[in-house]
Amino acid sequence: SKKARGWEKKADRKVARAAVLGAGIMGGGIAYQSAYKGVPIRMKDINQEGLDLGLKEANKLLTKRVDRGQMSASQMGEVLTSIDPTLSYAGFEDIDIVVEAVVENRKVKLAVLAETEQQVSEDTILASNTSTISITRLAEALQRPQNFCGMHFFNPVHAMPLVEVIRGEKTSDTAIARTVAYATKMGKKAVVVKDCPGFLVNRVLFPYFDGFSKLLRDGADFQVVDRVMERWGWPMGPAYLLDVVGIDTGVHAGEVMAEGFPDRMKLDFKTATEVMFEHKRYGQKNGKGFYDYV
Ligand code: NAD
Repeated sequence: SKKARGWEKKADRKVARAAVLGAGIMGGGIAYQSAYKGVPIRMKDINQEGLDLGLKEANKLLTKRVDRGQMSASQMGEVLTSIDPTLSYAGFEDIDIVVEAVVENRKVKLAVLAETEQQVSEDTILASNTSTISITRLAEALQRPQNFCGMHFFNPVHAMPLVEVIRGEKTSDTAIARTVAYATKMGKKAVVVKDCPGFLVNRVLFPYFDGFSKLLRDGADFQVVDRVMERWGWPMGPAYLLDVVGIDTGVHAGEVMAEGFPDRMKLDFKTATEVMFEHKRYGQKNGKGFYDYV
């Protein structure tokens, strides 16, 4: 459409400095990929353990590259120093784009986005890495909704080529142009999609997870389902994928999808993942999900 092409003409694609909020599975991955591709990044979390985990992950990925002879130890050092871990918003006024990657909880995101807007310049673009929550609804927290859009990476960030860039009702062409430019700099393929709960990929993926939950309710063994899907040719089955995603994130995202599409995506039974969530089995992030990781 004409609207979709408008952003392509925008000249402002400057992304010299970035920031990410949340240093978890996704925030840590985003920080690594940005630094590796030459865009220095501030990585903010609310606790030191979060920051340490994010840095540990970046270290692990870089060490692999050095071991494979893809980069020198001094290049690795340079990349690591371009990730600036922080517990405060100091220096955020100089940032071109801030990617929000905190927990999948609407209330938390609304508060974090509103707080961040106070700390950045009038030109800074804010982009949310939410998996499912409508960008137009998150924009309600902001005074400059035109500067806000979705920037949805996939897990693991360094390996997955796609980034969905989501246009909310009030998102400007400049915000889209800069976010696409940043994704491209990070070596990713950006696709601009419309706003709705789950955007595009998760509109397809969550019905698949629902199908898996129904199979388990009907008595299927999750390991058998995983093995069958792998032999069919997919890189992993649904149980293992949910462990990688995070059971907590999967449950929260599923709630948003059910609320957004109650006629199609609301299940009338308690799913295995909901039970696991209650028992604090969060997947690989805490060592226990469908499978145990020790
Ligand atoms: P995670 O639980 O691994 O990490 C969340 C991090 O956010 C934690 O380190 C936590 O301390 C931090 N945090 C919480 N409140 C904060 C605040 N106010 N300020 C700064 N940091 C704060 O979660 P994740 O899997 O990285 O998911 C983050 C976001 O990315 C979610 O919106 C999720 O839906 C989305 N996402 C996840 C995946 C996935 O496969 N896990 C894929 C795509 C998108």
